[in-house]
Amino acid sequence: MPALRSPDPVAPRARQLDLFDRPPIVEVLDPRAHVGDRSRVQTLCRVAFAIPPSTHLVFHDRHGWYCSQHGPHCEAVEVARRGMRSS
Ligand SMILES: [Zn+2]
Repeated sequence: MPALRSPDPVAPRARQLDLFDRPPIVEVLDPRAHVGDRSRVQTLCRVAFAIPPSTHLVFHDRHGWYCSQHGPHCEAVEVARRGMRSS
């Protein structure tokens, strides 16, 4: 007779896995189309987090990397930079 396993220790791990199953989505946009032809923005990304649902516009220009809403210390900035390095 197989031993019964308690589902309790599995539940928190399953939730954790669910978080990793939905990584942030990094979409590279054309800066000139969104900011204008004379833009000096080198990189423009839209970063979307599933949990909690939020969208951030991340710019890379002569000021460095920054989120349009939250500034350079936004979590989306690091996600965008990682996304650009890996592509
Ligand atoms: Zn942000």
